[in-house]
Order: sequence, then structure tokens, then C-alpha cells
Amino acid sequence: MDMLNDPALEAFRDEVRAFLAEALPDDLRRAASRATSVFHDPAVSLPWQRILHARGWVAPDWPAEFGGPGWSEIERYIFTAECARAGTPNLAPMGLKMVAPVIMHYGSAEQRAHYLPRILSGEDYWCQGFSEPGAGSDLAALQLRAVPDGSDYVLNGSKIWTTHAHFANRMFALVRTSSEGKPQAGISFLLLDMATSGITIEPIRTLAGDHEFNQVFFDDVRVPQANRLGGENEGWSVAKHLLTFERGGKYAPGLMARLTRLRAQSVADPVLRAQLDREAIALHALQALELKAMRGVGGSTALYASALKILGTESAQRIDTLACEAAGYAAWADADGQAPAELAVAVPRYLNDRAASIYAGSNEIQRDLIARLMLG
Ligand SMILES: Cc1cc2nc3c(=O)[nH]c(=O)nc-3n(C[C@H](O)[C@H](O)[C@H](O)COP(=O)(O)OP(=O)(O)OC[C@H]3O[C@@H](n4cnc5c(N)ncnc54)[C@H](O)[C@@H]3O)c2cc1C
Repeated sequence: MDMLNDPALEAFRDEVRAFLAEALPDDLRRAASRATSVFHDPAVSLPWQRILHARGWVAPDWPAEFGGPGWSEIERYIFTAECARAGTPNLAPMGLKMVAPVIMHYGSAEQRAHYLPRILSGEDYWCQGFSEPGAGSDLAALQLRAVPDGSDYVLNGSKIWTTHAHFANRMFALVRTSSEGKPQAGISFLLLDMATSGITIEPIRTLAGDHEFNQVFFDDVRVPQANRLGGENEGWSVAKHLLTFERGGKYAPGLMARLTRLRAQSVADPVLRAQLDREAIALHALQALELKAMRGVGGSTALYASALKILGTESAQRIDTLACEAAGYAAWADADGQAPAELAVAVPRYLNDRAASIYAGSNEIQRDLIARLMLG
């Protein structure tokens, strides 16, 4: 933890703080504080993305050659923590954090040159087409067919739970290009344009009543074979690579900032305060693990990605429960109905975060992966 308090980093931290104080507009800060999902609407996330892009700070994790700021691991962690502290909008992860690293790794020179700048600027907004009605945890069972026809594939089938498909102009998708051998061996990874003829998007309402995800239908959709990332029938490796970016990451900074706001706004109830304090200790332990993961100490990337996903999402759900309790007290004490944002959105956030232990691979599946990685 001393890494975060290294005096040599103070100038960097001050620079970030000064920028955030200057550049984050009040309306975006307010909208972010009222968001009920980790997936902020593009009306909130994209204006902030453009501001960060103009400063060259939109993709802290990207190598400098592709447009990253060239920060060290610890500087990136501090940047995340300062953004959480300032209450910035969350940027959509599907482009910047998920498909971009695999385009860098598996993409041709043309694919990199075409897609990466558009991801940075926000010109392309991506969604993830992995899950299907019959393929969730057992993702390799996916059936959306892609049949070669001339220089195209023709796609038929559907994807489900597709977050923000109704906002996206691009999808990265896993498709079945062969039924021979193991199911994993017949999957390819495609980058496709959501405006292509034959794609239909049907909304699905969440438990909290939001329109956040969708079912996407493909009816004779033609996708150029040149839009494949990696070799034909080699998409499973691309997907596995991508999933470590989807699962891994930095959960503690955002949760700590949230807990700090909650503690500041909470009632004086000693039991509730003790529970918040216990959660704060758990978050410090999570942060220590994230810093270890960052340096690759004592475990593989995949092992840390699964462990952090479990710990981060379970902590979020416990904080949601405490926020609902605090909101109950506040509602009782708050005669004029002006509860702070953290409490006003406690219930929809609680409902929305039920999904956190399901998406990006359920926590049961993560436990299974950890067991297999540890026990061989
Ligand atoms: C809010 C939200 C957003 C999502 N966004 C996207 C998206 O943008 N793109 C996308 O492709 N997908 C998305 N998903 C889908 C997500 O990846 C799947 O829901 C997840 O992988 C689980 O699959 P399933 O829903 O089919 O459940 P199932 O696989 O049917 O699992 C049902 C239950 O059985 C348990 N289970 C299943 N197999 C095992 C096993 N072997 N051992 C132990 N327990 C097991 C699971 O843990 C779960 O509790 C999203 C899901 C949610 C909730």
C-alpha cells in the first residue's frame, strides 16, 4: 500500500486532481452520481470521454504507441482512484477495455489503424455479442452460424443480454464457423457493423426496470471475412484473452469512493457505522490484492482476474445492502425529501448490482476456474 503514498508520485497526483477539478463539468458529475448502473448511458459517458481524449488520458492502460499516456502501473491506479474520488462518469468498457486489447494483439495493421483511433475518440461505440439463449456459462455451446459465401460470412441466429446494443454502432461477436471436433475449435471472432441489413434489436428490461441490455437477432446478415479477428475457428483464444480484461481490473478505488460518500452521509447509528467500517477494511485488503495483481506477484493474470471479479462484485453487493439500510434511516429523518444522491439511488443500484455476480462469467464459474488453476 506504501506504493500509493510514494512522495515521488505526489506531483502526478496533484496534476490529475487539478485537471479533474478544472475539466469535469458539474452536470456530468451530477449525472454520474445519480447513475443506477456501472454502465453509464453514452449521453453521460461520451462527453467525458471526449474531454479525456482531448487531454490524451482516455486510455490509461493502452501502450503509448496506440495512444495511451505512457503511465506506469501505479500512476494508472492513482488516476483511477482520483477519478473515482472526483465522481467522474464511467466510460463504456466494451471498446476501450475489452475489444481494443485484442485488436492490438490479434488485429492486422489495417484493423488496428482503422478501429483503435475510433475507439479512443468514441466515434465507435461497441457492444459484446458472446452470450446466446442456450450459451451463457457454457459459452462454447454457442450456435450463431457464420457460413462462408464469397468474401463474406452469412450470419443467422441470435445474441442475448447484449449490453448497450441499442446505442452501439459496432459489435464484437463469437460465431460458429465449424461443427467439427470440440465446440471451442469451431468458433471465430468477428467485428461487425450494427447498421448491417438483417440485424434487429429487441430490448430486455432489467429487474430495476432499466433498458440496459437486449436480444439481437441476425437474419442473413452479411459480414466481410476481412472483419474476422484472428484465424477462422481460432476465436476461442481471442475470447479467452478478452475475458481477462473484462474480469480483471480495479474495483477497490470506485468502491472506496462510494463508501466514503456513504459514511459521510450516513446516520449516527453505531451498528451501521461499524458495518461500514468493516467494509472499509475489506476494501483495503482488496486494494492490496489489486496492487499485487498489477505487479503479477504470486499468480497468473487469469487467476487474479477471477479472484478480483468475485471479491469486487461481492463487496459492491454488500455496500448496496448497507446503502439501502442507510437510505432507510435517511428517508425517516429526511422530512423535505432532499436525500443525497448516494442514498436516493440506493435501491435501484442494489437491484442493478444483483447482476454483477452474473455478468462477465458468474461468480460460481470464477470459483470453478480458480479451483482448476490452483489444483491443476
Ligand atoms: C446485466 C448483464 C449484462 C450482460 N451483458 C452481456 C453482454 O453485453 N454481452 C454478452 O455476451 N453477455 C452479457 N451478459 C450475459 C452473461 O455473460 C451471462 O448471463 C453469464 O455468463 C451467465 O450465463 P447465463 O445467464 O446463461 O446463466 P447460466 O449459464 O444458465 O447459469 C445459471 C446459474 O447456474 C450456475 N452455473 C452454470 N454452470 C455452472 C457450473 N459449471 N458450475 C457451477 N455453477 C454453474 C451459474 O453460476 C448461474 O448461477 C450479461 C448478463 C447480465 C446479467
